[in-house]
Amino acid sequence: MKQLQTPFFRIKEKDLLYDITLLKESLSENWGNYIIGYSVKTNSLPWLLTYLKEQGFYAEVVSKTEYDLVTRLGYSGKQIIYNGPIKDKKVFEMVLLAGGYINLDSNYELDWMEELSVLYPNRRFKIGLRVNCDLAAICPGEILAEEEGGRFGYCYENGVLKSAIDRLSALPNVWVSGLHLHSSTKSRTVQVFGALAKMAVTIAEEYDLSLDYVDMGGGYFGGRDDKPDYRDYFAEICKELSVRFDPQKTILIAEPGVSLISRASTFVTSVIDVKDIRNRKFVVTDGSRTNLNPLVTRHVYPHHIEYSSDTSVRSIESHQWVCGATCMEYDRLFKITDDISLKPGDKIIYDTAGGYTMCLNPLFINYFPAVYVEHEDGSIFTARDAWTNDEYMQKNYIEH
Ligand SMILES: *Cc1c(COP(=O)(O)O)cnc(C)c1O
Repeated sequence: MKQLQTPFFRIKEKDLLYDITLLKESLSENWGNYIIGYSVKTNSLPWLLTYLKEQGFYAEVVSKTEYDLVTRLGYSGKQIIYNGPIKDKKVFEMVLLAGGYINLDSNYELDWMEELSVLYPNRRFKIGLRVNCDLAAICPGEILAEEEGGRFGYCYENGVLKSAIDRLSALPNVWVSGLHLHSSTKSRTVQVFGALAKMAVTIAEEYDLSLDYVDMGGGYFGGRDDKPDYRDYFAEICKELSVRFDPQKTILIAEPGVSLISRASTFVTSVIDVKDIRNRKFVVTDGSRTNLNPLVTRHVYPHHIEYSSDTSVRSIESHQWVCGATCMEYDRLFKITDDISLKPGDKIIYDTAGGYTMCLNPLFINYFPAVYVEHEDGSIFTARDAWTNDEYMQKNYIEH
């Protein structure tokens, strides 16, 4: 790879294709009839969205801004899955009329469906509902995203889901045709997905729903050899779904985000200086903790080092603290103990880094880093230039 100005994110096409292929094979071997809706919020890099469109993916969007972005990049209304609690009425209507997928989440959306049903009496609308169920009860021991339980969708246990279904079913031209079960957990276990698939079966049986699709959402592990992968998840999901659903009739939708791109993404930084402060060595680098973990909550940053010169002649240091490029004391990434001393010009490369943070990256002191794509043949494509003040100052106004 030619010398590129650090820091930057790198996407390896070969690794990306590996996970895309693994996902497609897992879905087609276990179910056959499937749609993949890539979670745009995870990483909305225009290059990536375009690449995935060419791979046959739909776009899973949760805002008007995301809808506008994917539309500009050539996704048709049919290739859109519109989710989330904050929907835009105009976008809602456009996706619905185009035959895209919409999973309702909020009370006002039921009102909209009643209005649209009257407005378009000759159209037949298929609609999905996001299910909120008590994960702690159905998978005890699981580490939930929030201890208090999920806040999205319509609650199954208290009957709110049932009344949403009843309201929609009362409309002559609206058909409850899908259930959406995205529920993020910290533990991302295969069992959670099995339990959610089972929940789809329970709900469809209890409310006598004939479903066009079951959308299992995202939240899978990916790109890690020590964790389950798509093969494990979809074997389990499909085993449960097949209790009631037939692949000929019911489409399985998956909405992967980070699991698809983790393996392929790295963040490349350089050592700029090594400072001695009393009895400590601080290694100053040009990347920051904020580039990898904007909320600076994480303490582990998997990485490898590329030394710029012969390490056999370097001393061994008992302690080196690798620090970031911001002027914040908390910007310390990891400590190296009893290892080769680092020197300016060495590269620290963070592995499986940038899935979310290529785009979920604060404009703090420095702006968005560049993104380079390494093609299978080794050539480099610039997917995003590093942001400068040209981008930062756009649409800012100064009074004279
Ligand atoms: C965030 C999200 C996803 C993707 O989640 P990952 O953890 O990145 O796989 C999929 N579907 C919905 C509805 C989401 O909110």
